[in-house]
Amino acid sequence: MIISTAAIILCMKVRFLGTNGWFDSNTGNTICTLLEASDRYVVLDAGNGIYKLDRYIHDEKPVYLFLSHFHFDHIEGLHTIVKFRIRELNIFSMEGAEPILKAIIRKPYTVPLGEGPFPVVVHELPRDREKATFLEDFEYLVHSDPCLGFRFKLDGRSIAYCTDTGICDHLIKLGKGADLLITECSELSGRHSALWPHLIPEDALEAAKKAGAKRLALTHFNAHLYDTLEARKDIEERFAGKCDGLVVAYDDMAIDL
Ligand SMILES: [Zn+2]
Ligand SMILES: [Zn+2]
Repeated sequence: MIISTAAIILCMKVRFLGTNGWFDSNTGNTICTLLEASDRYVVLDAGNGIYKLDRYIHDEKPVYLFLSHFHFDHIEGLHTIVKFRIRELNIFSMEGAEPILKAIIRKPYTVPLGEGPFPVVVHELPRDREKATFLEDFEYLVHSDPCLGFRFKLDGRSIAYCTDTGICDHLIKLGKGADLLITECSELSGRHSALWPHLIPEDALEAAKKAGAKRLALTHFNAHLYDTLEARKDIEERFAGKCDGLVVAYDDMAIDL
């Protein structure tokens, strides 16, 4: 029997569970993205969108959570994870992550990290890098507090995740030739803040072009500036012709990779 190459390429799903930056609003929840690979689940940030995770995780595959940084819109969903019935949660973030997370996810605010129905292990990078063999690279981005960008190899695809950043060399490095660059679109065209660096849509497109990324997904829309989904659709209309495979994400959107 002849099996075509196309038939054995595994299909990966990228689900946008939360696509807002800063706060929840009628446009969606704060940021969380799920990469469904054949042998693992990789969750990117733990904004309030993470509460939807148990809609999609129904098997024993290991679950990894990568936290870019500790701004509340990226960790505030962590108090909901005790409802999940998973075997274990492996969290990866920067050096110092464990004491930071344990200082917030604790009594009297919520169930302390790891005291729920499954164990939680916090791994710090670069120390524990070998515990995530699918992590190809990580680098610090440009933000108001330290923030990591990541690049993964999953099911033969390279996926870069760089949110909460201004334009920087590390954004281009992580996105180099990626099958998908997931980045942010916090600012409106024409706006920049040196104090709290973020991307405008034009920046994100330029970064994807410079990096030679095959597809670009925009997420983490500042809920105060992008206060309707129409504002996101406007980006799609303005830029779809300038960027092949542009994805302007909204909550519960899924794409195949
Ligand atoms: Zn953010
Ligand atoms: Zn931030």
